[in-house]
Amino acid sequence: MNSLSQLPSVDQVLSSSKGKEMALKYGHNLTVEAIRSSLDQARQEHLTEGSAIPDLNGIIKHADGLLSHWFKPSLFPVINATGVIIHTNLGRAPLSEEALQAVSEVGGKYSTLEFDLNSGGRGSRLIHAESLFQQLLGVESALVVNNNASAVLLVLTVLTRGKKVIISRSQLVEIGGGFRIPEVLLHSGTDLVEVGTTNKVHLSDYENAYSKETAAVMRAHSSNYAIVGFTSEPDIQDIAASAHQAGLWFFDDLGSGALLDTSQFGLKHEPMVQESLSAGTDLVCFSGDKLLGGPQAGIILGRKDLIDQLKVHPLARAIRADKMALAALSATLGHFLKGEALEKIPVWQMISASQEEIKKRTLSWRKSLKLGEVIETKSMVGGGSLPGETQPTWVLALDVEHPQQLLAELREGDPAIIARIKDDRVVLDPRTVLPQYDPDFITSFEETWRKFEKRS
Ligand SMILES: *Cc1c(COP(=O)(O)O)cnc(C)c1O
Repeated sequence: MNSLSQLPSVDQVLSSSKGKEMALKYGHNLTVEAIRSSLDQARQEHLTEGSAIPDLNGIIKHADGLLSHWFKPSLFPVINATGVIIHTNLGRAPLSEEALQAVSEVGGKYSTLEFDLNSGGRGSRLIHAESLFQQLLGVESALVVNNNASAVLLVLTVLTRGKKVIISRSQLVEIGGGFRIPEVLLHSGTDLVEVGTTNKVHLSDYENAYSKETAAVMRAHSSNYAIVGFTSEPDIQDIAASAHQAGLWFFDDLGSGALLDTSQFGLKHEPMVQESLSAGTDLVCFSGDKLLGGPQAGIILGRKDLIDQLKVHPLARAIRADKMALAALSATLGHFLKGEALEKIPVWQMISASQEEIKKRTLSWRKSLKLGEVIETKSMVGGGSLPGETQPTWVLALDVEHPQQLLAELREGDPAIIARIKDDRVVLDPRTVLPQYDPDFITSFEETWRKFEKRS
């Protein structure tokens, strides 16, 4: 008897109780496809390698594995034990409970996104965050777009195309993901005028470059690098005043846009939105998901006459913010308005966590896991803010023979844990793990550790 004929049929698998369960969970068609693939593979392996013919259960198991593999999303939560708070690759700022709630409400229901309840007619999505920014910062006008890169592109495309913009050589920055200020200027059709040198720029450098074609002076925050040593740069109020005197306007790409002072937490002072505005900046822009601690967004604040021009440009429509980002942003701004940002916004909870708190958490990790050493080290704010700036922190350090291997296995855990290596040791930093995720962290770590230990 041809042993291939022992293979179950698709119908046999489908009508088994597990087969019915799979069809219910994944849909009939895909389940059939998975069963066919499993049968094909079994046939192939039997013919080419003489492998044994799997029984009904073998085929079910294989097909089920295929289905769960096909349905595994590529985007899912991980535990960030790196200590890098604004980690661009890990999705930057986690949202507050209230912001999440707002996303779920607005995302799952109809909303007033572009509807005016008073008139019963069309409203504007542009108003939602604008009034909050006006209250919070006293700005004339605000515009929220998809991200800060698109905010910069919009400002330059609409307001300085075909004209010159002056910027210091020390600020021709490239942000992660290939966002380069000179290239954005080029794409916007703006003529870039570089002044000063890499380490020093004087007010006279700007002033000597003013010409009839100049539209604006721009500053870009050196978000991800620091020039140290013999450096100088005029104060921004002086740059703004000089630009105004020459009939130009001044645009500040702040990058991170801190609304709270980072220096109260042992960090360097990150330029604040309030400072930029009070220095006389005409337009300031920054990200929603860096130190603001909200969703991905690009925020443009400042003069109404300029922002009005941005609002009606077709590019603004192409890069508009979506309703879930607007909902999350409004909730996040609400925390600043109520003066509860440090308690409610995860990024600020992490920045403001005291060393004693972190040490206590590390000790409790050690107690649960019964391994590692609790040591003092530094965590980085990271991700386009406070370059090279670190905060003292406590971590759990593990001496293992193959630290890279342990990192890789932790990444395969459920949930995946992202850690880092310092001095050949795997270090786990509780600063970026919100306390409510400690149980998940412990479970996932213990599971991985059991397998890791057995193997090594
Ligand atoms: C991060 C950053 C950007 C880009 O912001 P995204 O929100 O990532 O698009 C632009 N300019 C500066 C100075 C930045 O730091």
